[in-house]
Amino acid sequence: MSQGFNTRAVHAGQEPDATTGAVVVPLYQTSTFAQDGIGVLRNGYEYGRGTNPTRDSLQAQLAALEGAEYAFSFASGLAAEDALIRAALVPGDHIVLGNDVYGGTYRLINKVLSGWGISNAAVDMADHDVVRAALTTGSRPGATKMIWVETPSNPMMKITDIAAIARIARDAGAVLVVDNTFASPYLQNPLALGADVVVHSTTKYIGGHSDASGGAVVLNDAALAEKIGFVQFAVGAVSAPMEAWLTTRGLKTLGVRMDRHCENAQRIAEWLLTRPEVERVLYPGLPDHPGHELAARQMRKFGGMISVQFTGGEAAARTVAEATGVFTLAESLGGIESLMNYPSEMTHASVKGTELAVPENLIRLSVGIEDIEDLLADLAQALDRI
Ligand SMILES: *Cc1c(COP(=O)(O)O)cnc(C)c1O
Repeated sequence: MSQGFNTRAVHAGQEPDATTGAVVVPLYQTSTFAQDGIGVLRNGYEYGRGTNPTRDSLQAQLAALEGAEYAFSFASGLAAEDALIRAALVPGDHIVLGNDVYGGTYRLINKVLSGWGISNAAVDMADHDVVRAALTTGSRPGATKMIWVETPSNPMMKITDIAAIARIARDAGAVLVVDNTFASPYLQNPLALGADVVVHSTTKYIGGHSDASGGAVVLNDAALAEKIGFVQFAVGAVSAPMEAWLTTRGLKTLGVRMDRHCENAQRIAEWLLTRPEVERVLYPGLPDHPGHELAARQMRKFGGMISVQFTGGEAAARTVAEATGVFTLAESLGGIESLMNYPSEMTHASVKGTELAVPENLIRLSVGIEDIEDLLADLAQALDRI
């Protein structure tokens, strides 16, 4: 990690093509590779599910940006999470996860991997006694082998102390996984804070242009990395070459994009506080956010995601969600364009009625890189309609 972040973003895994000198790693849109004799491979390339040079370049770039040894890229964030859990755990194991993790992560663990014998407890990661109490030790069936943290969380913007949870995980002999999707490697490096594994939905800030789905698992542990590589190959939920190529292209500009996302989000969060329609603004960059000091310690900036709750309840939130013109009403986040989301009916519909349910007066903003004046004007006219 001797070079700066932006230098690594532009250059890691991006050596000019050996054959032509192409400065950009080509899109190797191929499913197989010619052999020069039976089993005589050129640079180890054999079959696209196993390896592809375009995907290799993305994986090298991802590892460099998290300061890690290994990275594996997948077709989606959830495919990455599934491969990680199947590689790291065996049926009978127990996961303790934050009670405000991404709804799809909870659904994967609680509805899909439960059928494979994985049990879970969803707890408030801010209360370390509760986290410790949720750990099941070897004396009880199903020992906790994994702790799963998402910080900042989606969409409640809670900040979890990664270093403190890493100590709890180490004492329990559990692997600490941090979903770093909201912060991106530019703002936060969980491995440096003691986490064992980082996962990303690269669909979001890493790709950054809302044009490619993907996920990644990043880590330093060689033995676990080998198992993940095996699941990646044996199951095959890999990034397609085109998705990997687009993601690498997007990732090169993560730092400059993120600076603007953060700057715009801070301005919008402060502006929202001045509006009478607003009950609460959830943004770690605001001094009265409960996680502000912790975020200032473990993140470089506060990110581009804001959640807002309205005094007018569900009706007000729905009105705003459907009234913007520059902000587009859509799922997902982290792209250069501003997006508006009504989680309780959209991204988090799958956890409605559970303890992970999202308040109905809440909207989530993914603040893009447009001009701040246009974003503020758009929100002002939408709030005026409440
Ligand atoms: C979107 C998202 C995921 C899932 O990623 P996909 O690429 O949609 O499969 C996981 N975690 C967080 C925090 C997300 O925002």
